[in-house]
Amino acid sequence: MLLELKIPDFADKVLQMLKNGGFEAYFVGGCVRDSVLGRIPHDWDICTDARPDEMKNVFEGLHTEEIGIRHGTLTVFSDNKPVEVTTYRCDGEYSDHRSPDKVSFVSDLKSDIMRRDFTVNAMCYDPKNGLTDIVGGEEDAKNGIIRCVGEPSLRFEEDALRIMRALRFSAVLGFEIEKNTCAAMWEKKHLLEYISAQRIFSELSGLLCGAYAADVLREYGGIIAVIIPEISRCFGFEQHNPHHMYDVWTHICKSVEICRPERDIRLTMLLHDIAKPLCAVMDENGTGHFKGHQQMGAELAYGILKRLCCPNDVTERVCGLIREHDDRIPVERGAVKRFIAKYGYDFFMDYLEVRRADTYAQSEYLREEKLRDLDSLAAIAIRLEEENACLTTAQLAVGGEDMLSLGLSGKAVGEALRGALGAVISEEIKNEREEILRYVKDNFL
Ligand code: ATP
Ligand code: MG
Repeated sequence: MLLELKIPDFADKVLQMLKNGGFEAYFVGGCVRDSVLGRIPHDWDICTDARPDEMKNVFEGLHTEEIGIRHGTLTVFSDNKPVEVTTYRCDGEYSDHRSPDKVSFVSDLKSDIMRRDFTVNAMCYDPKNGLTDIVGGEEDAKNGIIRCVGEPSLRFEEDALRIMRALRFSAVLGFEIEKNTCAAMWEKKHLLEYISAQRIFSELSGLLCGAYAADVLREYGGIIAVIIPEISRCFGFEQHNPHHMYDVWTHICKSVEICRPERDIRLTMLLHDIAKPLCAVMDENGTGHFKGHQQMGAELAYGILKRLCCPNDVTERVCGLIREHDDRIPVERGAVKRFIAKYGYDFFMDYLEVRRADTYAQSEYLREEKLRDLDSLAAIAIRLEEENACLTTAQLAVGGEDMLSLGLSGKAVGEALRGALGAVISEEIKNEREEILRYVKDNFL
């Protein structure tokens, strides 16, 4: 039976324009893989025997972008949506383990298929002839297998990023990595050192957000350790503490599994306890303690994320969460207010999520109490948000001019406002003009 994929009109238009121009054209790669798996593709790529100049002719009149044209890729906008069209190519020598020295355009589909990374990514489809699958991609997709096209160790030697891609696809799709492909990944893992930090970071982020990320981390931690050697110390590191039932790495993997699949939160969980082995001390009762691991963990994470070219705002957020992840603030309005005043509401909610994931990945000892506290803290924060509680000087019922008319000037203005905010936050006074002015008069004049 002919496999029929649902092709959106905007993508089909582009394919038909190539065919009407007398060229071969197929949907290829991720869109075919995802369709075969019953997942919704997020973009539609086309391969064709049309050369770049010929493609430009075919799409004359349409908006196109030529950023990838040297590698044979023209981005065509159809109904305002981008479709990447790439000339069949076969890649030349790879001397740097990451990109071909030169690419050659070819006229046969088979060469283009053979340069692709995994069998599930090497299927082609056109509505007239159905699936073209010369490397067994459909079978591997059905069986949930990631397998290199061709000889795995050669393919990873050409481009070591494929090692991270295999892990990412495995984490996202829940696929097993085929035996020879897997063996070659372990054998060639050191070549990841040649890959640019940006590309690694992008694959790592995709991996961490996969539904099966924890399984991949557990099984392939030794490969991830090539890019983040700091995690190696955590492998099998026992905690000897009633709050914990797993070694540090197993705990980390569990915590990644439990939290929401959002990049920053998952990066936080991946790195939150990396300093534990460095801070571990055992007391006379044989109980392990890890004093200072949050602070040192945040410092290590900062170095790692900088090295991986993680965007600065993400690095700040992740390191902030790591620094605070073990700070058990009291369950009371004042403490929550002070925390939110310092870091903001969203950060507080992220902090609670990190602590919840951390708790679920610990032993059951006091778990109920810990989770109850987290729920209460969340309820307090939500209530404060609803009340529009005053947590910044900008929300005070008085402003700088009021301080000036009281006779304050220069630095004293800010000091008085911050003092008043402190009193409002601690609920010593209400956020009302008269009360604040009185407070300032009593304390700052
Ligand atoms: P997704 O878009 O969901 O990440 P994808 O399979 O579409 O998955 P892309 O990075 O968009 O991945 O690449 C499109 C296709 O190009 C792949 O399906 C694969 O056939 C090929 N490809 C991409 N990167 C490589 C690579 N490093 N080596 C070999 N082939 C690759
Ligand atoms: Mg894609």
